[in-house]
Amino acid sequence: TELSTMILERIRDVPDYPRPGVVFKDITPLLADPVAMAAVVEELAGTLQADKIVGIEARGFILAAPVAYRAGAGFVPVRKKGKLPAATLEESYDLEYGSATIEVHRDAFAPGDRVLIVDDVLATGGTAKAAVELVERAGGEVAGFAVLMELAFLKGRERLAGVDVRSLVTV
Ligand code: IMP
Repeated sequence: TELSTMILERIRDVPDYPRPGVVFKDITPLLADPVAMAAVVEELAGTLQADKIVGIEARGFILAAPVAYRAGAGFVPVRKKGKLPAATLEESYDLEYGSATIEVHRDAFAPGDRVLIVDDVLATGGTAKAAVELVERAGGEVAGFAVLMELAFLKGRERLAGVDVRSLVTV
């Protein structure tokens, strides 16, 4: 489609970042294009009905905040451990080397809130899976998980059984 072409043309491959052998998908050219950004935000905001839009630190914030505004929904940050000031729930997950922990405020959701989780890229699905668990533990109902770009060869979608996963482009 026109939208997927617009997105693909504005996501840049950066070889050997953050490590040799990895090709990083850099969304900054897309962020810098107001027409493409408006189309992306419009599409994500129209995807699924939700009371709250969760953004995953840090690039997820950039997308989730305008999507929440456009959808008339609340914005909730999921952050790396140690960054949220009030009482939190946390979830750890494995990375290629080591592990990571993300947190959400315990009182971020009203019981039964429908929640759309937004991030930039779905890779192995570890981050997404942890975010889904966090939202559920905090009392939210996960309406879906939406990303700009899905790296299908990493099979992240397979780790998200039962979750409505929406990606604007798949590579
Ligand atoms: P996963 O947990 O392996 O699915 O990795 C997804 C997380 O890492 C997301 O929060 C992304 O922001 C980030 N990420 C992984 N690979 C890329 C990439 O190529 N470009 C941008 N972000 C990435």
